[in-house]
Amino acid sequence: MPLREQTTWLRGDRFHCLQPPTAVGRTWRLVLLGAPGAGKGTQAAMLTAELGMCSLSTGDIFRAAELRATGRTEMAEAHARMMRGELVPDDIVLRLIGERRNCLRCPAGFLLDGFPRTIVQAAAFDGLLAAERLQLDAVIHYQVPIMDLVARLAGRRVCSRCQAPYHVVLRPPRIDGVCDRCGGPVTRRPDDEPEAVHRRLIAYIDAIGAVAAYYCRQDRLLTVPAATTPERVFETTLALLAARGFELPRHEPAASAGPPRAPVGAPVPLLP
Ligand code: AMP
Repeated sequence: MPLREQTTWLRGDRFHCLQPPTAVGRTWRLVLLGAPGAGKGTQAAMLTAELGMCSLSTGDIFRAAELRATGRTEMAEAHARMMRGELVPDDIVLRLIGERRNCLRCPAGFLLDGFPRTIVQAAAFDGLLAAERLQLDAVIHYQVPIMDLVARLAGRRVCSRCQAPYHVVLRPPRIDGVCDRCGGPVTRRPDDEPEAVHRRLIAYIDAIGAVAAYYCRQDRLLTVPAATTPERVFETTLALLAARGFELPRHEPAASAGPPRAPVGAPVPLLP
């Protein structure tokens, strides 16, 4: 799949994507929740390929800001917090989202990865969506036991050019240190250093219960057990969306591809 252009998301509404995505079937507006290492990035790539929207990660905005001199002191603060594994203050995050309304209005929809992360962000996001007359379809929560998260994060590597995800044991690049997709350098994210990981997991655990409960009360929460293969997690996600009555793109079976894909994974009970 070609790399998605993310100009507007990474730089704000004053900058326009030259090739905005086009919707595949319906316009999807989804949020992904999950701890660092839960596989949100991998699922985001699979979901956007299937459903046509852009995956929009707030973490990517802060990482991109480091590469570009933005001249904004709040971005320097955000970046410093990120490097320490702390959450960026809500007011900064909300200002950045407010400056990216074009992405929220995009006819292809959106898949937010890493936002909202606190109850303050979730409530403010609802206000923003209401002002834009937009509705969130679902909030997908990927759940992985904490010990698995620690092991995943210790081995996680990422292409510093195109953000393709790797793992030293589970998914190494074909050539050590070189991205299979774009040839860029595959390295450890600075915020994946062990001390930062520890803080990020604590920050996540502190906030996620309230955010999940918030969306559960809105009946938008889909909980997906994610300590399994990416393919299985993806199939479960699609099955849960279908069980909620969302129409998924239809795939004509290729002559040699066997029977059409059957949804797998029984619906998972909602969090209390
Ligand atoms: P991620 O790539 O989503 O794990 O985000 C990397 C880092 O960016 C986090 O550890 C936070 O420091 C910061 N960050 C990203 N999104 C948010 C958010 N919604 N609220 C606060 N901090 C965030």
